[in-house]
Amino acid sequence: GLKVGVLGAGQLGRMMALEGIPLGMQFAFYDTSGTPSAGLGKIYSDPDNSLAPLNDFIADVDVVTYEFEHLPLDLASQVADAKPLYPGVKALRICQNRVLEKQTFDELNIPTAPFRVVDSQADLEQAVSELGLPCVLKSTTEGYDGKGQAVLRDAANIADVWLSLGERQLIAEAFIPFQRELSIIAVRAEDGATATYPLMENIHSEGILRYTLAPAPDCSSETFVRASDYAERLLNHLDYVGVLALELFEVNGALMANEMAPRVHNSGHWTQNGAHTSQFENHLRAISGLPLGDTGAIGVSCMVNLIGREADTAAVLTLADTHLHLYGKSERPGRKVGHINIVASDYAELLKKLKLCLPHVPEHPAFSSSLISLP
Ligand code: ATP
Ligand code: MG
Ligand code: MG
Repeated sequence: GLKVGVLGAGQLGRMMALEGIPLGMQFAFYDTSGTPSAGLGKIYSDPDNSLAPLNDFIADVDVVTYEFEHLPLDLASQVADAKPLYPGVKALRICQNRVLEKQTFDELNIPTAPFRVVDSQADLEQAVSELGLPCVLKSTTEGYDGKGQAVLRDAANIADVWLSLGERQLIAEAFIPFQRELSIIAVRAEDGATATYPLMENIHSEGILRYTLAPAPDCSSETFVRASDYAERLLNHLDYVGVLALELFEVNGALMANEMAPRVHNSGHWTQNGAHTSQFENHLRAISGLPLGDTGAIGVSCMVNLIGREADTAAVLTLADTHLHLYGKSERPGRKVGHINIVASDYAELLKKLKLCLPHVPEHPAFSSSLISLP
């Protein structure tokens, strides 16, 4: 069987392997964190970046993908020189840098928040005078789960916020008063075929995704067509192979791109139980030259992230159509340790099932979709 190499050994690589093994694939993981959780294939551990394990890993696999976009570009290029790397270095380079990412949205006529590149406190003052307040400041590289970000509401705080974000390059964005956050996941095969999952609604708390509803309730077909058109423009522009996630703001019926991720995405975890083909399987199909699978939803789903603490396993397992996924990671505040997928035939039934499930999820934030609420 084909041997897939994954750069990274966290839950996303693990969930890929869980879907690839039935297709006859084997897996190997390259880990620099020292705390791999994948465990479904050989782990090439390289906490000191000594690179000998990287060469052994490359030699061992047929095709390479990654579960995290913040990996050094020279490492990615070294891999790509030896084995097919999907998504490729071009997509990785753009997706790991918020400035290149926003410029790409502009270039492809995908609406996005107005932004300025900030390299100094003087730049920040200038950006604030041009964009107005509030504005959102993000480190150009390396952020996730809202880390390395701040919302600036008062010009008196410019010096403090510049210091607190580490005096590094930032992107300043106009604050978008969106009604809700959506995302779309699309996949492109080696031969250029594409497929798109339904739009999803994402509910965050403290910068971390907490709930995804799929398909997003009350989305017009125009909105879906627009979102999938944006995703497709990106896939083609980036010569993309694999799964791409695009995060969007819905503002007065229009869509604005927030950011994209060149990988399987937390907002697509519901597809494990709620779609005909999961995002993990479709990613693997794409990178190994296989035909793409049906991206359609089976009913409606809610994904509940387990943040910091696991759920009451025995209690959750008594609930109908409620699927527990644990990552085997130790509990730590703010850490993604698992998720629950709930599937139903309509939103009313979904919300009833969610209401039964939530008491078993410690410290969950209130479920607050803009359009539907718990019974
Ligand atoms: P992720 O974990 O999704 O990768 P991230 O750290 O890369 O997150 P973003 O997605 O860029 O960060 O921003 C985090 C959240 O901050 C968004 O989901 C949204 O709620 C809010 N946000 C980001 N940019 C803006 C903006 N321009 N206007 C209003 N809110 C914003
Ligand atoms: Mg991000
Ligand atoms: Mg985001």
